[in-house]
Amino acid sequence: MIYLCQNDRQYDYDIRAITLAFLPGEKIVEVTDENEADEGNIFLKLHFGDDTITGQMKEQGKIKAQEAVVCDYNNHEHCRNDVCRFLYRLLSSFTGKDLPWGVLTGIRPTKIIMKWMEEENPADLAALAFRFAKTYLTTEQKAQLCTEVARHEKELLGKYPYSEEYSLYVGIPFCPTTCLYCSFTSFPVLRFGDRMEPYLKALYKELSYVAKTCADRKLTSVYIGGGTPTALDEKSLESLLQTIRTLFPMEQVKEFTVEAGRPDSVTREKFHILKNAGVTRISINPQTMNQETLDLIGRAHTVEQTKDAFMLARACGFDNINMDIITGLPGEDISHVRHTLKKVFELRPESLTVHSLAIKRAANLNIEMERYRNLVKGSTDEMLCLVDEYCHRMGLMPYYMYRQKNIPGNLENIGYSLPGKECLYNILIMEEKQDIISCGAGATSKYVFPKENRIERTENVKNLDHYINRIDEMIDRKRRYHEG
Ligand code: SF4
Repeated sequence: MIYLCQNDRQYDYDIRAITLAFLPGEKIVEVTDENEADEGNIFLKLHFGDDTITGQMKEQGKIKAQEAVVCDYNNHEHCRNDVCRFLYRLLSSFTGKDLPWGVLTGIRPTKIIMKWMEEENPADLAALAFRFAKTYLTTEQKAQLCTEVARHEKELLGKYPYSEEYSLYVGIPFCPTTCLYCSFTSFPVLRFGDRMEPYLKALYKELSYVAKTCADRKLTSVYIGGGTPTALDEKSLESLLQTIRTLFPMEQVKEFTVEAGRPDSVTREKFHILKNAGVTRISINPQTMNQETLDLIGRAHTVEQTKDAFMLARACGFDNINMDIITGLPGEDISHVRHTLKKVFELRPESLTVHSLAIKRAANLNIEMERYRNLVKGSTDEMLCLVDEYCHRMGLMPYYMYRQKNIPGNLENIGYSLPGKECLYNILIMEEKQDIISCGAGATSKYVFPKENRIERTENVKNLDHYINRIDEMIDRKRRYHEG
């Protein structure tokens, strides 16, 4: 428990986020006086004066760290970074730790560099990386990585008039079984398979509305995710792809991705259906190549099935296959990650997306946390450096990244790809450069207003039956953006 005492709450969000990045899993309780704090816990006192901020941290009643900084407290813009860096130093001195991402708690660090690049044209990348590391106290390696990704994204986006177009996301919330760590909208086929037909019927209604109201706009990319779209049976999968082809101008689309994430959901026939429908990119996700971990996390497939699914996709003509892996899975350390990377290396996917295990509230792993607490060591920077090394050996370059809240160690998720095989949709959704119109249960649409520097979102309900029964309401939620 951390008792927090502050005389002003102007920077409360940043203070809590940075404190929890250093002391994950702690609970912060606000107090007005030290007497309200229990001595056995951590006491953090911050005092904001007009030109000086002071901070003190106590444990067991004894002072363990203290800091002070001079700054113009009334100038919010300038003072915010000073406050964050000051708190960072205080917490670093208290814990003896440093954070690879410094004071950055946001999920899109590349947006900062992208903005600087736009302001300074042409940009000196080394100078931007230096400024980034200095401003946010990141490691040099993270600053360089972020700059490299931003440069790559800018180069790719520069080729398209993306801000005038839109992309379409279609959510299929069915999976063969539910993975232990799942925080997505996903329903196991065995129990919910009877909802496939009514679900698709509702989805087609929503898709028809989007197609009609966006008929005069160009479509950049289509992404079918989930869940696991290939968990649909052959007939339903074909019907879904046919419907999309009929409703939308697919001949102009630059990229058409379908997630075939679970190797236990694919067949030769399904791959043929995808190929015939013009799908350009698929994703087959091992998550780990260690069988004992797969068994533990409830992915009801084998390592062999992952390899077989990949080889089958290749045999069916797919030349742009992504693989997702997760670092920090229960029971896994760096040796397990190395094993997974070796096996991925043998398959040579065109892209590899690396997620640091995120413990979210909806995930079973979180609910059953007590059972697995000792097994979850979290992702480490060493693991991500190993991933980076293997990706470079495979010729894959980092091209998009994001961070999530609640990631132990507060690390990043990152996509690597061969040049020319990057997923445009991933960049567009991360950099928030164009409207992403999403259909299906749990899907969130994002509408971008660049002139006003504003983004608005509409969400569909996550519950399968509610989505089916309330489809007209889901369409109504979109109406104000589509019909002015
Ligand atoms: S495959 Fe993905 S969406 Fe499906 S249950 Fe597992 S984590 Fe969730």
